[in-house]
Amino acid sequence: MRSTESDKLGFAIVGLGKFATEQIMPNFKACQHARLAALVSGSPDKARKLAAQYDLPETSVYSYDNFDSIKDNPDVDIVYIILPNSLHAEFTIRAAEAGKHVLCEKPMATSVEDCEKMIAACQQADRKLMIAYRAHFEPFNLDAIERIRKGELGTIKAITSDHGRPVKPTEDEADVWRVVKKLAGGGSLMDIGIYALNAARYLSGEEPVEVTAQEFSDKSDPRFAEVEDNIHFTLRFPSGVLASCTSSYSYSEVKRGRVFGDKAWLDLDPLSDYKKHTMKIGDDEGKQEPEIEEGNQFAAELDHMAECVLHNKTPKTPGEEGLKDVRYIMAIYEAAKTGKAVKV
Ligand code: NAD
Repeated sequence: MRSTESDKLGFAIVGLGKFATEQIMPNFKACQHARLAALVSGSPDKARKLAAQYDLPETSVYSYDNFDSIKDNPDVDIVYIILPNSLHAEFTIRAAEAGKHVLCEKPMATSVEDCEKMIAACQQADRKLMIAYRAHFEPFNLDAIERIRKGELGTIKAITSDHGRPVKPTEDEADVWRVVKKLAGGGSLMDIGIYALNAARYLSGEEPVEVTAQEFSDKSDPRFAEVEDNIHFTLRFPSGVLASCTSSYSYSEVKRGRVFGDKAWLDLDPLSDYKKHTMKIGDDEGKQEPEIEEGNQFAAELDHMAECVLHNKTPKTPGEEGLKDVRYIMAIYEAAKTGKAVKV
């Protein structure tokens, strides 16, 4: 049953950039348990305009400086952090200390230590912490996981996944911080390779035991002075499944994944887009394209966070899930640097 507006939990959005304004804020209208309640921004003009657009009072607009006073706003239950990666830790900790539950964008943080601090702060404040892995709420991915677990592909042998797009800091403001190590923590792996890594884990249903990696970035290209462009990595899982993944800031756009079983293969292309997913399954007999209804992964994710708070449940993608990926990412960087396999 759909809740009334006042039964829904209030979200404060921290960081009013491209993803927040184009994908997240417009999707609250599709939510059953979540509503937009406050905005936190470094640009007062932008925040005021958006507040007016979304019918929020000016008292629900905060700056990064007075953000901590959000603790006195009972209309805000959950703070959703959509800032550059290296700021996730500070604002998660401040939100927990203000007594709010936290939904935080991927990658969770730019170091293992920061992830651990975020988990500890939310535990100490007895608040929920969820990392915004939207693919875990996306119907094509959920359908793929179900087919794999049911054995439709037979025994899984291998997974491949490629994520790439051209990063354009001179054309797109959202790409400016992405090539600055202090803000992004790393390059394509932290930003989009993480989708391949996370997918290899949820598709196999296992945790890797060893990683290998190779990196190549054209250092004469100013975009790659501080962060990596191309990184190829492999994950070895306990059952013997091998995942082979690539991530790049100079490919033309790709976001795909394929699972190879001994009976059939399954393709998701795209695997991790905002919409228009496709699935193909093939075997010796031929190929088929199952009919799956496109869903609203953003609304499903926001509603899940709200339901976890309402019913005191652990989120499907808690802080510990984000920490695992950041640990594997660090191991992949180490493997790329040393040229040696790294046990994880
Ligand atoms: P963006 O640059 O459009 O937004 C970032 C916001 O942070 C801007 O409003 C900017 O003004 C603000 N900001 C505050 N302090 C800043 C500083 N010191 N330097 C730069 N900006 C600062 O970026 P985005 O694409 O919206 O990404 C924001 C976060 O969302 C990132 O963590 C990114 O990984 C994540 N993201 C997730 C998805 C997804 O599909 N889940 C998609 C895009 C981005």
